[in-house]
Amino acid sequence: MTAPLPRPGILDIKPYQGGRSKLDGVAHVAKLSSNEGALGASPRAKAAYQAIAAELHRYPDGGCEALRAALAKRFGLDASRVVCGAGSDELIGLLVHAYAGPGDEVLYPEYGFAMYPLYARANGATPVTAPETDLTVDVDAILSKVTDKTRIVFVANPSNPTGTMIPASEIERLRKGLRPDIILAIDSAYSEFVTRNDYSPGTELAESTDNTVMFRTFSKIFGMGALRLGWCYAPAAIADVFNRIRSPFNVSAAAQAAGVAALEDTAFFELCLAHNQMWRPWLAENIEALGLKVTPSFANFLLVHFPAGDVPKAEAALARQAVIVRQVASYGLPNALRISVGTEDENRRVIAGLTEYKEGAA
Ligand SMILES: *Cc1c(COP(=O)(O)O)cnc(C)c1O
Repeated sequence: MTAPLPRPGILDIKPYQGGRSKLDGVAHVAKLSSNEGALGASPRAKAAYQAIAAELHRYPDGGCEALRAALAKRFGLDASRVVCGAGSDELIGLLVHAYAGPGDEVLYPEYGFAMYPLYARANGATPVTAPETDLTVDVDAILSKVTDKTRIVFVANPSNPTGTMIPASEIERLRKGLRPDIILAIDSAYSEFVTRNDYSPGTELAESTDNTVMFRTFSKIFGMGALRLGWCYAPAAIADVFNRIRSPFNVSAAAQAAGVAALEDTAFFELCLAHNQMWRPWLAENIEALGLKVTPSFANFLLVHFPAGDVPKAEAALARQAVIVRQVASYGLPNALRISVGTEDENRRVIAGLTEYKEGAA
């Protein structure tokens, strides 16, 4: 007799570890470990969420009509090609499930988001990485790793955990260099934080090609990670595939209502963007002034580098300021910490913690 076994690949998965959220015995922690949006969710989104309580017995709209219409209006899209999901994670997983399996390769950059290999393995496909240059996506390196078996190429832009970005022209060059049967999946979870005019989240490619999908989320600038709400913009045939395999009520009524309200609250969105525009460089400058290296970031977090072996000391000093940050050793970056941009008070505590670490190290 043998015990039941899952399909090949599944037991090779290391379960995803999110950022820590607690420090034992410490109240008012600054949770800067998951890039959740310094100012939280829009007050209008919170009100819409609460209003749903009266309707908890009703199934949600399985087609997310109002939310897709609101997304289409806000971002200038064809609503019929927008698909919503329980976080963009769900949609990323569905894409891999639909297009890659045993014998296929899922390709992504060296420091790419941990969910790409996880979903590849979950579907029996083989994750393959391409080296990055200066912690930045390298299009030529990706192209050189393409094989007959490549089915999907994932690129997060800006990327996590590095925070770096590549311009729209580089993403276009990547698309042109890939065979037409390979899906280019552009994960634009942090796109709203980018203000450079050579950047694009990938809308045009998702619009004009039949093999490029753009993923977006309400978990970052919209500060609604708890609700699990993401979406993608896909060519019609791929949107159709998503709609065949997703569960019929994959997005809760609360998430749909809060999502619509969040999109309408453009003033709060602008406040969040302005906050990040001010405090990201403030944090970077103050950390660099302590003699630490910071990777230039286009998102709402910074990757900070420490002398070899110093990460535990820095983390402990930050913990004394009740600040929780993210280790990134699992990404192959054992001497770095990823720190989300927080509120003013939280950011000042980051600098206080790192100053104390530096004084201790001196
Ligand atoms: C946070 C994040 C996501 C998605 O988050 P969801 O909460 O599932 O929408 C996707 N990709 C990257 C790179 C992220 O950092």
